Amino acid sequence: MTRIAFIGLGNMGGPMAGNLVKAGHEVTAFDLVEASRQAAAELGVGISGSAREAVAEAEVVVTMLPAGRHVLAVWADILPAVKPGTLLIDCSTIDVESARKAHALAAEKGCPALDAPVSGGTGGAKGATLTFMVGGSEEAFDRGEPILARMGRKIVHCGAAGNGQAAKICNNMILGISMIGVSEAFVLAEKLGLSHQALFDVSSTSSGQCWSLTTYCPVPGPVPTSPANNDYKPGFASALMLKDLKLAQEAAQAAGASTPLGAAAAQLFALHNAWGEGGSDFSGIIHLLRGKEKG
Ligand code: NAD
Repeated sequence: MTRIAFIGLGNMGGPMAGNLVKAGHEVTAFDLVEASRQAAAELGVGISGSAREAVAEAEVVVTMLPAGRHVLAVWADILPAVKPGTLLIDCSTIDVESARKAHALAAEKGCPALDAPVSGGTGGAKGATLTFMVGGSEEAFDRGEPILARMGRKIVHCGAAGNGQAAKICNNMILGISMIGVSEAFVLAEKLGLSHQALFDVSSTSSGQCWSLTTYCPVPGPVPTSPANNDYKPGFASALMLKDLKLAQEAAQAAGASTPLGAAAAQLFALHNAWGEGGSDFSGIIHLLRGKEKG
């Protein structure tokens, strides 16, 4: 049993904290929103009056917050209250620069830290089947891995501080670009009189094969479980894809990397969001490429 503090009990953090309780850990937690606190309390999570109060006795602190500025503000707030040596793990998806600043803040207090963003969405958070991409020292990773293993199925150590976030945004840049590529191919096939199924049958067993085609196919029919068959309900919301593509562009600019297709993907998903489709699955980008809304 480990004493764990959990800050940020939203769609992801709430069920993740619940899985730590299920695994036999003692979890004290805090969120700014009363409804989130209550939902977590129903999963057996102990609720504190503030983030500082939650971390006071903790051996491990986990944060699951919206963006880099929230993580830096919460870590700056709690670090004076944690015991030296407490392991801090941030599971939010944030920019690489803020992740590295968070590691530095923790180091000033003598605390090891990990950036450990996830993929797998809310289903993975509930079912404890998330994938964690982790940055930080070997020693910090060895301490954090058994905790992360209670919330996920696959845990990959990607290297030093910030490399978990780097892996996450590189992967999601591939995903955003490949979904646009697959969608464009279906739109072209429609214009050429080639059926969705025929294109799928060829490309799913040829060099065009990829996850966006065979798991998340953006047209209804070929892959019955893809969001396209469920009116493009997420799944993975277009707003979250846009967030990750913007983080990839920030990182590319800071690092001097040239990512022209990543930049184009960010622009197309910005348009999709401006269309009011931020809450739809990101595979709904195919409607934008057809030039007309779904229906
Ligand atoms: P969410 O908005 O549902 O939850 C965030 C929670 O943080 C909210 O409950 C909010 O009240 C709380 N919060 C904000 N500031 C706080 C503070 N100062 N103190 C305490 N609590 C505070 O978001 P989510 O869907 O749970 O996502 C969390 C993170 O995980 C994000 O970085 C997101 O990009 C990432 N992520 C989400 C998904 C997904 O499918 N939802 C998938 C992968 C990664």
